[in-house]
Amino acid sequence: MNVQISRQLHPVSPAGARALVRIVIVGHVDHGKSTLIGRLLHEVEGLPDGKLDALKAVSARRGMPFEWSFLLDALQTERDQGITIDTSQIRLRTPARDIVLIDAPGHAEFLRNMITGAAQADAAVLLVDATEGVRDQTRRHGYLLHLLGVRQVMVVINKMDRVAFDAGKFREIETEIAAQLAGLGLTPSAIIPISARNGDGVARHTSSTAWYRGPTVLAALDAFVPARPPHDLATRLPVQAVYKFDDRRIIAGRVASGRIRVGDDVLIMPAGKPACIKSIEAWPERETSQTPRVAIAGQSVGITLDRDIFVERGDVVCASTSPAASARRLRARVFWLHQRPLAVGGHITVRIGTAESTAVVAAIEDAVDPGLLASDGAEVIAQNHVGEIELALSRPIAIDPYTADPNTGRIVLEFEGRIAGGGLVLTAQAAVLDTTSGPRPGKVASTARASRTGVNSDELRAKASALAQVFASLSPAERIAHLRREVAGKIVFTTSFGLEDQVILHLLSERTDDIAVVTLDTGRLFPETYALWAQTERRYGVRIRALHPRHGDLETLVERDGINGFYDSRAARLACCTVRKVEPLERALAGARGWIAGLRAEQSAHRQDMALVTAEAERGLIKLNPLFDWTREELLAFVSSNDLPVNSLHAQGFASIGCAPCTRAIAPDEPERAGRWWWEEESKKECGLHSHRP
Ligand code: SF4
Repeated sequence: MNVQISRQLHPVSPAGARALVRIVIVGHVDHGKSTLIGRLLHEVEGLPDGKLDALKAVSARRGMPFEWSFLLDALQTERDQGITIDTSQIRLRTPARDIVLIDAPGHAEFLRNMITGAAQADAAVLLVDATEGVRDQTRRHGYLLHLLGVRQVMVVINKMDRVAFDAGKFREIETEIAAQLAGLGLTPSAIIPISARNGDGVARHTSSTAWYRGPTVLAALDAFVPARPPHDLATRLPVQAVYKFDDRRIIAGRVASGRIRVGDDVLIMPAGKPACIKSIEAWPERETSQTPRVAIAGQSVGITLDRDIFVERGDVVCASTSPAASARRLRARVFWLHQRPLAVGGHITVRIGTAESTAVVAAIEDAVDPGLLASDGAEVIAQNHVGEIELALSRPIAIDPYTADPNTGRIVLEFEGRIAGGGLVLTAQAAVLDTTSGPRPGKVASTARASRTGVNSDELRAKASALAQVFASLSPAERIAHLRREVAGKIVFTTSFGLEDQVILHLLSERTDDIAVVTLDTGRLFPETYALWAQTERRYGVRIRALHPRHGDLETLVERDGINGFYDSRAARLACCTVRKVEPLERALAGARGWIAGLRAEQSAHRQDMALVTAEAERGLIKLNPLFDWTREELLAFVSSNDLPVNSLHAQGFASIGCAPCTRAIAPDEPERAGRWWWEEESKKECGLHSHRP
């Protein structure tokens, strides 16, 4: 049943004068929900003039005893006839609160509305029938509140008149329901014995419940704490667009929470760039003295910053003291609408405000059929079911847990270009360097082809050339940042844990860029390299994704050439490198638009042919070697001054370190890469990793 008393009956109070609390009523219709709502409306004098008398007269004429639930039936009928307001909630005024009572007619519909933001409840009334006590359905209703994250709950034990206001019966139910709710992490604010039909315990206590010392229903409603209004929350301005006017870059969006003031220090999330609000723009342009100095939640604004930093749609301007999380992984409670069940490994698009990211479902827990309201233990979420999922995002986005800010804590899920669900963010995990969201192996070939055919080679080369000119005067960190800004889509950094790679990883760890870090595990690495890999993950708190050779290719190779066949001929060595390195690299780069590697020009004569920035037209990407022009002295100085973890083999005379059977220590007067494939001629030492063209 969804009805609303006309707004005109309850004029809205001036903003801020009275707190508004949204309360959901859950309980079986037979437990007296309509009766309680009808009685409450009467007690707070919230009924239209003459409505009660008219209904009593109708009942008398029909020879029926009057029931409070008739009130809602009558109002429902009027609503159906289009006579009264057409929304689905009931407003009433208690002594201290403006209250919106939200009925929960069907679990599925209500869950969907709550989760997608169509409805919102600050608190709940859970209704229990004294004649029936705690039943399965009561447990389900408690579970519903748990799913919705509603923390304030009042329990009303109705129909006490039917059990002769037996205090013993009440205590029995009270103990059981309190234990049930405790198991769900809920502590009721009050458990109240009432007779909604007779009015006992609703607005006042009567002699029938003289043994009860707690609040009435009305008093308990008044004690619910309203949600904080949006303007009281930390500042969040999701960026909708950035416009360039004369020499100003105007950042436009709607203030979702808090307030924006000229002079405020802010952080642009998810990148965490600091800035200060220089102005709030007005249209048409007014005198400077008349331009606004502050904008609050709900207002659409254009702002300028005090510095020229890159801001784009999807960023969120946040209070510097309490910014949104830059999340690369999040946990959410979602409602799934698509006919194809959501499964672990599924690829979806996540939208939050104006931001979006592709994501992989990393885990599913607590899939629930809302009709039964019980966890079914399934590892997929079926259509119209609810579940808790963990998502690995392909790029960081600014997110708040729903409990901290519902305005930036709700997500929309898209699947195959359509809205397929929505959810509440439960927790957000800060951005990490690793990504597990690359294309699945089975899809690599088609993704890679698409990338090769989808990029215009001439444009790519022109872009690489332009970037090379800009990058020449930048530091390695600035080069990486600039590449991230200029290249839309996936960027991959490949590390083999060399000194250059450790420097680049260190630079990446100081940023929140969306750059995937991967390594190629040939299966022939030194034990010291594996140890450094683990040490590096610990140092930076990341997991570095490994690409391994395809098992079948490896078996064929070893069967044909032997385990160390690469010593026998250059062809065998290149075949080994192709299976163990080059093919996995192609998988790592599939679909990428940018590739960061640790090449330096002075490492070998051959590498001087390479460049700081190149266009890899066949792969459809721009490749950046941010340390390309660094000398070994610069490299060692950075490693030392930042105390970077390095391979212990360096101390034993190893310089460039690759696979164990193919690497030796070098003499002091030998070039850096002399220890790699030492048995080969210098001009034939590349393995295809950086020179291979697919
Ligand atoms: Fe094989 Fe040696 Fe190449 Fe490693 S470096 S992939 S062991 S040939």
